Amino acid sequence: MAKYVMALDQGTTSSRCILFDKQGNICAMEQKEFSQIYPQPGWVEHNPMEIWSSQLAVAMEAMAISGAKPEDIAAIGITNQRETTILWEKATGRPVYNAIVWQCRRTADRIDQLGRDGYAKKFRDKTGLIPDAYFSASKIAWILEHVDGAREKAEAGELLFGTVDTWLIWNLTKGAVHATDYTNASRTMLFDIHRKCWDQEILDYFRIPACILPEVHPSSYLFGHTDASVLGGEIPIAGAAGDQQAALFGQCCFDEGSVKNTYGTGCFLLMNTGHRAIDSGSGLLTTIAASTDDDVEYALEGSVFVAGAAIQWLRDGMRMIRTAAQSQEYAEGVPDTADVYIVPAFAGMGAPYWQQHARGTIVGVTRGCTKEHFIRATLESIAYQTLDVIRAMEQDAGVCLSHLKVDGGASANDFLMQFQSDIVGTQVQRPKCIETTALGAAYLAGLQVGYWKDRAEVRENWQLGKEFTPVMTEEDRAKRLKGWRRAVRCALAYAEEDE
Ligand code: ADP
Repeated sequence: MAKYVMALDQGTTSSRCILFDKQGNICAMEQKEFSQIYPQPGWVEHNPMEIWSSQLAVAMEAMAISGAKPEDIAAIGITNQRETTILWEKATGRPVYNAIVWQCRRTADRIDQLGRDGYAKKFRDKTGLIPDAYFSASKIAWILEHVDGAREKAEAGELLFGTVDTWLIWNLTKGAVHATDYTNASRTMLFDIHRKCWDQEILDYFRIPACILPEVHPSSYLFGHTDASVLGGEIPIAGAAGDQQAALFGQCCFDEGSVKNTYGTGCFLLMNTGHRAIDSGSGLLTTIAASTDDDVEYALEGSVFVAGAAIQWLRDGMRMIRTAAQSQEYAEGVPDTADVYIVPAFAGMGAPYWQQHARGTIVGVTRGCTKEHFIRATLESIAYQTLDVIRAMEQDAGVCLSHLKVDGGASANDFLMQFQSDIVGTQVQRPKCIETTALGAAYLAGLQVGYWKDRAEVRENWQLGKEFTPVMTEEDRAKRLKGWRRAVRCALAYAEEDE
């Protein structure tokens, strides 16, 4: 029996490869950063060849270091930065333009135009997404419009489009397979998440020929095999999912109502809503969750724009700490924030407020306010923002959160996790393995090839690292929340005058 499942985790700043064993232990891990290309303010690109070469390199290194031969690898699962858009020539594999990264804002005007054309609600109903330049649709349209000869070639069936999963699968199979999974398709803003197919009306609106689109399959699916010349053998490629959906799966959030929050630069919260595609009243996104069969499950997704980034700001901008981890010591050095609240709306406020003109707001400062209070208030703001998204999700889904599973870099902060538990009033569970994104991709692939029998067997691997239980009194919680809400109102009032 093969020893490992290989996860290829192609992120925004680095490509990683992890070999997992049956218990979900990490047996080898390799990582390589690649170039970020900023051709103009607000534009972000990657070189598709560098995405591929860095991903291939870490896969080969992980095999070399662990001594794994191709036959030792039961399957490969892919997880990737979502929405990032690549177009390449079918005959040569040559990209016609750099990858346009999800963060890139170059098509913001095109999306404003979509709103003026009256399509925002219709496209939202079909795709579950609030139209935005993040998603692939307007990025594909941009390439077809701006790259010489691209439209003609696309219409002649000579070009292929893919998100990063598709690009990797195509290269791993040496051009034999052009495919994606439901989760990645659901982030293109071209995919009808209810009918589970590409939507002709949206394609027409963006003037995108359907022949460039990949086939769409469940996240756990035998997409093909690696060409023997790539990794030295024919390894099944048996799973693919966008990073946040992979993390939801890796956290074993299989039941309706289960939620995970990833604390990175921002926070990404996803709630499994089972077979219900819930239309959010608070501006959350409806998206497809990773599933093991064609009967797809859905998720509600909400994000906090500034989370770990606020800690980076304390370190690099305010120079109050030397390392992110130090924030914990300082926060624990005072019993509370002395009624100081910080709303880190550096780039506007997301769900459930949606005020793009909002900016960072600090209230309640007295002569007694110290650096410790300031740092503590910044950490607490991450938990308050998360709480606001959770309450919106609960309301939309009509379910009450029973516990919260966490991962991501800032989930290592025990103070933050305890405060999160206190302020939501629920258990916060941090697993031993916080590489949940890669683990989710591995599970999807391993389940497909029978390395793991079923979800129940996978669930046995989920091991609690640390659990945080609420200890705050109801009265205390209510008082603090009242302060937070007042601070948010201040931020909103300040933004209104800017409009
Ligand atoms: P990303 O994938 O978005 O780059 P990571 O999951 O690697 O993010 O987490 C990095 C983020 O977490 C950074 O913004 C950093 O400031 C924050 N961070 C890391 N460790 C801690 C910590 N101990 N306490 C608070 N924040 C932390």
